[in-house]
Amino acid sequence: MVTIKVDNLIDFVGEVFSHADSSSEEARRIATYLTTANLTGHDSHGVIRVPVYIRWKKMGSVVPNQTPEILIDTPSLAVVDGKFGYGQTVAPVAVKLGIEKCKKAGLAAVALRNAGHIGRIGDWAEMAAAEGLVSVHFVNAAGSLLVAPFGGVEKRLSTAPYCVGIPRQGQDPIVLDFATSIVAEGKVLVASRGGKKLPVGALVDSDGTLSEDPHVLYGPYTPDGQRDHTKGTGAIRAFGEHKGSGLAFICELLGGALSGTGATAPDRRFANGMLAFYIDPKVIDPANFFDGEISRYVDFIRETKPIAGTDKVLIPGDPERKTRAERTKNGIPLPDDTWAAIVNTAREVGVSEVSIQRATS
Ligand code: NAD
Repeated sequence: MVTIKVDNLIDFVGEVFSHADSSSEEARRIATYLTTANLTGHDSHGVIRVPVYIRWKKMGSVVPNQTPEILIDTPSLAVVDGKFGYGQTVAPVAVKLGIEKCKKAGLAAVALRNAGHIGRIGDWAEMAAAEGLVSVHFVNAAGSLLVAPFGGVEKRLSTAPYCVGIPRQGQDPIVLDFATSIVAEGKVLVASRGGKKLPVGALVDSDGTLSEDPHVLYGPYTPDGQRDHTKGTGAIRAFGEHKGSGLAFICELLGGALSGTGATAPDRRFANGMLAFYIDPKVIDPANFFDGEISRYVDFIRETKPIAGTDKVLIPGDPERKTRAERTKNGIPLPDDTWAAIVNTAREVGVSEVSIQRATS
């Protein structure tokens, strides 16, 4: 395990993307969002993605320095085409538009289509919450066929995340943000690289056997070699039996089909699609009942007697807040395999040995 200081990691990852044709602004933005995913404890969506992003860039499936296009623009609704630009570049444009429209109309919906990987969806809910807005995000990852629907053993869904952000006055927002699969694919990636093991039965093989072995998804691989989810015989399972599988299906239809990205299919180019709704609580609730009621209810939930083996009942957003505080102070731990794969990629794009050494100083 190596532990890297937050600023060093952002500088280093930014250098990798600068060497891969991104402008310095884009490179730093990608590095900052990926590092934020690590900071919040979502290592699956953090810098472990650097080799994959650079591979996608080389294949032309993600385009550096892309300018998204606004295809539809009404007072309360917009459709933004990310044109396969980096998600970290095109998603903030769509979210900013949703925020602006919502501040004028009280309610807005913005569909983002054809975005490169938009990472941790909580980032976009936090962006809206920072402006005092509630947001709800339905997302799919077209082309990323990974998840078996309830009752099936074949991949038909992406890990299709769902996210809700709720601002609080003078406090951090409440952010519920999860993949609709038992685990996000990145968590299988992390486990395959020596990180945290998968929960029991997170995967299903083609014969219906439940498994936690990443080889079920990726087939054979070497420690720092590529992971390809088209090579395995099995799938990740949708969470929550028929209910979670149903939510995943809706994310595919709203985040994928309605956004214009397309629902997940084996022959689609990788893209995230996101349909997001923004609501201004100040418009719907001028008497400001909401914020006090949130506080009352949060306390009520926190005071639940915990089940044996659990310290206390948490609120969505608590685990991320705790990890962010710890890692901001102590740095970001990365398994050796993960770091080796990032360093290999850095060397491939021409980052100097001096910069590689500096990252771990
Ligand atoms: P997860 O299973 O860790 O669940 C995270 C959510 O559950 C958070 O809202 C967290 O605050 C809450 N939570 C966790 N423990 C809790 C507890 N004990 N009590 C109450 N709440 C608790 O997340 P995941 O499914 O592994 O997803 C990880 C990340 O991957 C997310 O940020 C998601 O947006 C991202 N993702 C992105 C894509 C994409 O295509 N861009 C696809 C899938 C997932």
